[in-house]
Parts: sequence; structure tokens; C-alpha cells
Amino acid sequence: MRIATIESDVPLGALAGRLRTAGWAVAEQEVTPRYTLIVERSGDTGLHTLLESVAEFLCSEWPHLYMETRLRAMYPLLSPEERQYLALLAAHVIRRAHRDAAWHPAPWRAELMRAVQDTLSRYGRVHLDGVVRFRARPWLKALQDVASGVVKQFFADREYETFVAMLRHILDAQPPGADVLHVYCSEACVWVTDAHGQVVTDRRVLDVIAEQEQEEEDIDVEDVAMSLLITRAPRYVVVHDVTKAAPWPSFAETVERVFLERTRRCPGCDVCERLRNASEQNPPQVNIVFPFPRG
Ligand SMILES: [Zn+2]
Repeated sequence: MRIATIESDVPLGALAGRLRTAGWAVAEQEVTPRYTLIVERSGDTGLHTLLESVAEFLCSEWPHLYMETRLRAMYPLLSPEERQYLALLAAHVIRRAHRDAAWHPAPWRAELMRAVQDTLSRYGRVHLDGVVRFRARPWLKALQDVASGVVKQFFADREYETFVAMLRHILDAQPPGADVLHVYCSEACVWVTDAHGQVVTDRRVLDVIAEQEQEEEDIDVEDVAMSLLITRAPRYVVVHDVTKAAPWPSFAETVERVFLERTRRCPGCDVCERLRNASEQNPPQVNIVFPFPRG
């Protein structure tokens, strides 16, 4: 005897497995884009085991499957591998989260079970995604936010990779210089010195700054410093990074990604030590002393 028809826009194989384990006879149908399970009683299995299986599925497998389905609908140009990667990343974010996080399903479990029970007793069929949409909207919204965040980061990463590749390409075209340059990154500014600690500037770079100033464009200090480094194409760059919470991607990271084996991290020097103390005690001072203040 048919007990329930369960539908969803996400694949229901995992739910079918749970139901069979609980003692139900299940037939699976897939008429794209909808997946359907026909659940029939076999033996004297209690209805609560069906509801338990559905609730478990909604709280365990469903979020991941929902992410994949949503990503497919929203970003059809991503490859299946990229979508799967993003869905896994989103699942990782969710799993790593504290139980109290908005996207944790526990607070919604009882409500979802009740809604599935109500709908089944009234109509004999239930659309699981619809139940979540109407009865656990804040949870669904939180899941969607996780997916959007992951996708946004993915595209930012991709753009950054392209940017780094372009800089590397320009650098490779330069004849390598013989000198060693030092790049200093603090919260307040970025600057470049030679091996003797003399601040390095470049005629062309200064011209660009003057031009931008004239046109009242904002000067991006990191762009200026990067142009300088690439123009000089030093034998290697020593990176002195005293930033504590530089937003991703930090300038120091970008220098390392562009110059690869031609970079060395400063293991600790007097200047870094002084900068760390200065930035803790009196950050504006640093701004005045060095040539390329940030922002
Ligand atoms: Zn240093």
C-alpha cells in the first residue's frame, strides 16, 4: 500500500537508502528536474520511522545536495567539477561552524518533521524543498548565504590568479636585475629599499604617480610598489611583513606569488622590530616617514 509520495528537486537516493534501512519499500523515479520516491509499507513499520528518515535526510544530506542543485541553476557555466568543489566547500563551512550558527539544522528538525507529517496526512505527498522553504526559511536563507559567500570567494580567487599570472608574465619579459630589493609592508604603508636601506623610487613610477595626482585619481600604493618591483626585476626580493590582519590577498602574499623562488621572507630584523613597536604605539608616525602611505 502506498503510504507517501516524496518529491524534491535534489536527488533522493540517500533518502531512499535511509527508508529501506528503516524497513520501507521504496521505488525511485526521476523526471528531470524532479526526483520522486514512492514509499510503500512492507511489514508493520511505524510511520514515525518514515518521518525520522526524512528529518535525518533533510538535516544531513539535503543541504549539500541543495547547494549543488542551486549552484547548477545559478551558475550553469561552471563545470560539474567546479560546482562539486564549491558545494563541498560550502558543506565544509557549514560543518566547521558552531552548533549555534544560523545554518545549523538542529533547531528546525522538529518543525520540519511536523510539517512533513501534516502535509503527508493531508495530501499523501510532500515536496521536501517546499517544506524547507516555507517552514524553515531562516535556515534556508543562511544556507543560501553560505553558498553565495563561497561562490564570491571562488570568483575573487580566480580573478586574483589571473592578475598574478599577468604580473608574472610581465616580470618574465624583463631582463633579471642583479640587485636585491627589500619590500616593507606595514598596516600604514608599503615601500621598497635597496640592500643599503635607501628608499627606491623610479622615474617612470614617479611620473605615473604625478599623472594620477594631476587627474585626481586615487593612487594605489600597492600598485605603485608592484610596478617598481617589476620594473627593477631584482635578483630576489626580501619581504618584510609586519601587518597583523592585512585583508586577503595581502601585498606580501602577492609579491611572493609573483616572484616565486626569487622571494625571501625576512626572518626578523631591526626594521621589522622597530615597525612593530611603532605601529603599536603611534601608527600615524609611520605614515609620515615613508614615501607610499596607504590610502
Ligand atoms: Zn625585516
